[in-house]
Amino acid sequence: MGSRLLTNIGELLTNDPDVGDGSPVGRVRDAALVVDDGRVAWVGPAARAPDADERHDAQGAAVVPGFVDSHTHLIFAGERSDEFEARMAGERYDGGGIARTVAATRAASDEHLRAQSRRRWAQLRAGGVTTVEVKSGYALDVAGEARLVALAHELTEEVTFLGAHVVPAEFASDREAYVSLVAGEMMERCAGAKWTDVFCDRGAFSVEEAREVLRAGRARGHALRLHANQIADIGAVDLALEMECASVDHCTHLSDRDVERLGDSSTVVTLLPGAEFSTRAPYPSARRLLEAGVTLALATDCNPGTSYVTSMSFVVALAVREMGMSVDEALWSATRGGARALRRDDVGHLGVGARADLVVLDAPRAAHLAYRPGSSLVREVWCADE
Ligand SMILES: [Zn+2]
Repeated sequence: MGSRLLTNIGELLTNDPDVGDGSPVGRVRDAALVVDDGRVAWVGPAARAPDADERHDAQGAAVVPGFVDSHTHLIFAGERSDEFEARMAGERYDGGGIARTVAATRAASDEHLRAQSRRRWAQLRAGGVTTVEVKSGYALDVAGEARLVALAHELTEEVTFLGAHVVPAEFASDREAYVSLVAGEMMERCAGAKWTDVFCDRGAFSVEEAREVLRAGRARGHALRLHANQIADIGAVDLALEMECASVDHCTHLSDRDVERLGDSSTVVTLLPGAEFSTRAPYPSARRLLEAGVTLALATDCNPGTSYVTSMSFVVALAVREMGMSVDEALWSATRGGARALRRDDVGHLGVGARADLVVLDAPRAAHLAYRPGSSLVREVWCADE
């Protein structure tokens, strides 16, 4: 394929502060962009655009980097809309429903899981996601977790081993044995994953248990991430910092000390407002984190229990409306922030050399993604792989 010029872009967000208006989102108005060999080769004002083999007219539309959804549980069988209805009627979420998804997922064939997860990935993609992270965690036995890791690899290179999601029923009276299994044989069979993650929270794994699993993951060459402080503050943020996790996710309940320590660290905080929405929990304040200098990512947390969300623009709208982010901050966090949470420099921005993963909106300004929630505003998705 030859070079392609995308021109007549009304508003381009590059997330490259060296380009355009000097803001973190690197805004260029009346812009153009040249793609060559799947990479951004040139970006700037349309009036100065070089020639290319193919020319595409954006007709004044806004263009943003493809979304980087850095936290999903995309591979599962079944659904739990009844729990959502019960919660909306006043019940509290305590993490217990995961066992239902584990039972359904264990019973499902490879073909069924593959078909279901591909549909969800297609929904994410249609909404502008070009990079996705996918976790295991709904089998909780050695062969089953290895199967989920293999299925996740069919979708993405950002595969996370989450054998420590919850303690399965058959180990309820011997948690220690389950943690040893996860850190031992299960980790060995899931060594092909890139990441190890643990659900470290009240009702899931303690800080000590999570530390054992994270250390085993690190010994296998995995980079680390952590589910923390969604339900309660049990000290999981200290563990994430101690283990130098790339990202600590949820962070609904944070002490002032946690916020301060996160601001002094390189660990990204990934906020998942779809979970607060779907569990009717209080939203964390993104403003408080931003003021402390914390790097934020936004992700869907797509899972059947607490956030069956496959729209990043919905997440952006929630972040703006409910968590105090500006539209630019939310769009940056849903793109470059997600890339930081995955320690990726080649995605989440449209600076020269980046992968040409981008979204042409059916709107003249990127702000429409938050301003018009619930509307389908993605006109085209360009992905360097395709
Ligand atoms: Zn999660």
